[in-house]
Amino acid sequence: MTEARLPETGSVEVTTAEEAVELVEEIAAEAEDPAIVGERLLIVLDIDGTVLLEDESLSPGILEAVAHAHRAGHEVMLATGRNWESTRGIQHVLQIQPDYAVCSNGAVIMKRVDDAEAHYERWHVETFDPAEVLTQLREHLPDARYLVELPDGGREYTEYLDDWNLISAKRVSFEELARQPVTRVVVVAPEHDEHDFLDLVARIGLNQVSYAVGWTAWLDIAPKGIDKGSALELVRGWLGVDPARVLVMGDGRNDVGMFGWARERGGRAVAMGQGPQEVRDAAGEVTGTVTDGGVAAVLRRL
Ligand SMILES: [Mg+2]
Repeated sequence: MTEARLPETGSVEVTTAEEAVELVEEIAAEAEDPAIVGERLLIVLDIDGTVLLEDESLSPGILEAVAHAHRAGHEVMLATGRNWESTRGIQHVLQIQPDYAVCSNGAVIMKRVDDAEAHYERWHVETFDPAEVLTQLREHLPDARYLVELPDGGREYTEYLDDWNLISAKRVSFEELARQPVTRVVVVAPEHDEHDFLDLVARIGLNQVSYAVGWTAWLDIAPKGIDKGSALELVRGWLGVDPARVLVMGDGRNDVGMFGWARERGGRAVAMGQGPQEVRDAAGEVTGTVTDGGVAAVLRRL
């Protein structure tokens, strides 16, 4: 028997320190490959008060943390009260191009239809007839200002407000607001605070719609049964993600629906530390505030 005929038992290569570093990096990159991890999460982030501070600056550490989650093979997407026009720029800043974006508190779901261009289409749109709710609200809030979003993304409003980005929005009379189906009604009454709004909706009973009161005393009205959670259930199904592989994060009353949706099906819901008590109670976990980088703290631990 000669040495040449012996079965190979493996080989040992001696590498330089530089090569060893490269090798370790390669192995680390493979470990973050989605095909290898197989534990892909659907991570859903609210925008205002979660990704962004009040002055629209980014929550500390979030860019790095989102990139980390991405490398680990997770899908990071946004679910927001904002319309698509003011959501797309945030996706760009976060350097994500998810398959879907949930806008207008669940009434609008955008779908990416072109990988190369990150081009999105209005994929699923829910509307309602706003006439009755507008009449009810006006009776109780004669001085309020109103804005509606139309199914094609257009917006109409009654009075100028500093808070609103009204580029491409059309000013109309109050009566004109109710002449067609809408995806959303926003009501702002600067002289009232959020507790007045909460009392008001409890008193008048908004039965034919869904609503959420925002931290700046916005009343946000959506079609009945529609919220971020109802939209995310559609998205989850389209993506084929296991309900237990869902992680949602948010800070507001318009996030309570998606918190419940995630938790009922075995997923995680994390509230931002600065959110109202009822919002923190609705989540299974609470992280730091948006100012302290609450999202990054959670994503880094994945
Ligand atoms: Mg928010």
